[in-house]
Amino acid sequence: CRKNAHEPEFLQAVGEVLESLQPVVEQRPDLVKAGVIDRMVEPERCLLFRVPWVDDAGKVQVNRGYRVQFNSAIGPYKGGLRFHPSVTLSVIKFLGFEQVFKNSLTGLPMGGGKGGSDFDPKGKSDGEIMRFCQSFMTELQRHIGADTDVPAGDIGVGGREIGFLFGQYKRLRNEFTGVLTGKGLSYGGSLARTEATGYGLCYFTDEMLKAAGKSFEGKRVVISGSGNVATYANQKATQLGGKVVAMSDSNGYIVDENGIDYKVIQQIKEVKRARIKTYLEYVPTAKYVEGCQGIWSVPCDIALPCATQNELPLEGAKALVANGCFAVAEGANMPSTPEAVAYFQEHGVLFGPAKAANAGGVATSGLEMSQNSIRLSWTFEEVDEKLHGIMRNIYHSAAKAAEEYGMPGNLVAGANIAGFLKVADAMVWQGVSY
Ligand code: NDP
Repeated sequence: CRKNAHEPEFLQAVGEVLESLQPVVEQRPDLVKAGVIDRMVEPERCLLFRVPWVDDAGKVQVNRGYRVQFNSAIGPYKGGLRFHPSVTLSVIKFLGFEQVFKNSLTGLPMGGGKGGSDFDPKGKSDGEIMRFCQSFMTELQRHIGADTDVPAGDIGVGGREIGFLFGQYKRLRNEFTGVLTGKGLSYGGSLARTEATGYGLCYFTDEMLKAAGKSFEGKRVVISGSGNVATYANQKATQLGGKVVAMSDSNGYIVDENGIDYKVIQQIKEVKRARIKTYLEYVPTAKYVEGCQGIWSVPCDIALPCATQNELPLEGAKALVANGCFAVAEGANMPSTPEAVAYFQEHGVLFGPAKAANAGGVATSGLEMSQNSIRLSWTFEEVDEKLHGIMRNIYHSAAKAAEEYGMPGNLVAGANIAGFLKVADAMVWQGVSY
């Protein structure tokens, strides 16, 4: 703990996992003897680098770049890049640690990693974004590769940024490989990757609801955020019969009792790159409230936090439960604070933790890697069907592990245990040489 004392997000993520691994530690002394837990909380490698770039006014700017290569026991490091001013080594380490378990849960051969920068893409021109991405990749390219480490997008890194990063990698290395996922369809991207995290979240939630004799049909859904995950969670939740009544960005939230059309959000966020407040220009009968925290006081049956870490605190959890919310599934990484998670569990709310519920994005990135390797593309329906199957399996492996280790219904513990065991066994088989 002491050596990571200055890394609160990382400690929070590790604390939650270690707590649920207690029954495994008692039943598997062989793993403790092999030092698996001590090894698993220490990243294999942390890279930190300078990213200098020139803004439109000709001024030199300097940001900090990160890549944490956390665990390669079951495959090449895999995980997104986040560009946001709140990025620190602690944030990237927490995300990389979570990624190890999440990738294992997908059943695909992917290790865990994460990266990013404290660069703020908001308000930057396309030229500035491109120059930043090119400078970032000029250093990152030394450390990644299709069989070594395959980054993807995350907050602030979408199709535009992946394109600039891929172009620079190809130019520097003179090779066309599947070194990044989330690529455009014309240069090796997979159909359904854009939609995958949001769709996967709803497939997982649907499975969790079904097991409790419930469904999305006719339910009020609140989704925080209005980025990639939130937009496509809205589309799929609506297709499954739910009505999305509220969405947000970091400035505030909108409420539309007639249901929010994901296409309007797509237009505002992906085309205009504007604030969610603009929704009122499309639907004047909707309501806009300043400040994003209040979104949890909007009455709903199902809540899908899809913005960022620790966005759903205890007060939010209390408001949701008081208004009759019976299911919460995490689209973002670690959006609920530990106090909020405990409150949901104590009040019988069905709770789908991030590393299981939002694994659809990385799973489809894994499918993009497979398509790149065989140099073929699958149809949207083929990818979507595989994604659906993977999300169903993730739900059932988490539920089964929870049951087997004496915590039936506790998907937090189940997901941690199921994800952990596969990586732990691989580490034992490979010896203590790294
Ligand atoms: P985007 O950048 O597309 O969207 C992020 C959304 O969250 C925006 O609406 C943004 O609002 C809001 N947001 C970001 N930071 C804050 C903050 N500090 N407070 C309140 N709102 C905030 O990112 P994604 O949709 O890709 O990612 C969202 C979450 O999902 C992240 O936790 C990410 O790690 C996780 N995730 C993403 C995957 C993917 O495939 N993209 C896969 C698995 C998990 P604003 O525009 O105002 O900043």
